[in-house]
Amino acid sequence: MRSRARSPPPTSSVSSPIASRRRRSARTAFLRVAGATTSASPTAGYVVVGDALCSFNPVYGQGMTVALGEAKALDECLGEGLADLGRRFLTRAAALIDVPWTIAAGEDMRYPEVEGRRPPGFSLMRRYMERVHRAASRDPIVLKRFFEVANLLRPASALMAPSIALRVLFAGRDGLEASTERACQAT
Ligand SMILES: Cc1cc2nc3c(=O)[nH]c(=O)nc-3n(C[C@H](O)[C@H](O)[C@H](O)COP(=O)(O)OP(=O)(O)OC[C@H]3O[C@@H](n4cnc5c(N)ncnc54)[C@H](O)[C@@H]3O)c2cc1C
Repeated sequence: MRSRARSPPPTSSVSSPIASRRRRSARTAFLRVAGATTSASPTAGYVVVGDALCSFNPVYGQGMTVALGEAKALDECLGEGLADLGRRFLTRAAALIDVPWTIAAGEDMRYPEVEGRRPPGFSLMRRYMERVHRAASRDPIVLKRFFEVANLLRPASALMAPSIALRVLFAGRDGLEASTERACQAT
């Protein structure tokens, strides 16, 4: 790193301003497209899918799953005919996007540097998720459920199911930690 810092500056010069295609909010792009297709617009006649519709933070590994869900939804919409296709598809796509978006945005918003209005109940949910993380490190049942939700196999509400919530709220040592200890003692 240090030798790199001492290297001479590049001799070539930049001939034009550097253009960035970083989007401030992928969600904004989605809403704009969703709104645009409902009126006469340049997007009329096109169906936007995948990352072009809504791109997720890759850290959470959700984009391909959502894109596949959208492909399936588009197939179903096409099976129902062409009339009003764009709006019908976007309604289904919005439902597919909402949960993973909420999971990812909720995680991002834990950081105070992240701009944006926190939704009502956010801090309560954040505290609950902290307990989920703690419980998941001890209890294989909570861990399994956490991964099912994170991998979009179950809705986020599955983390609040009474059987899971009880384990989360009263997470004790009777879980993975205890069974690991037992396994260590047995060897
Ligand atoms: C680093 C990283 C890690 C990721 N990890 C995961 C993960 O673990 N799990 C997960 O589910 N998702 C992950 N994703 C997200 C996932 O890759 C995307 O959500 C998914 O690929 C979106 O599919 P898509 O078809 O919409 O777009 P893309 O896969 O980007 O396909 C778009 C295609 O269009 C082509 N194209 C672009 N412009 C033109 C043009 N003008 N003419 C012709 N072709 C063009 C591109 O070359 C590309 O092949 C990750 C993304 C990144 C960046």
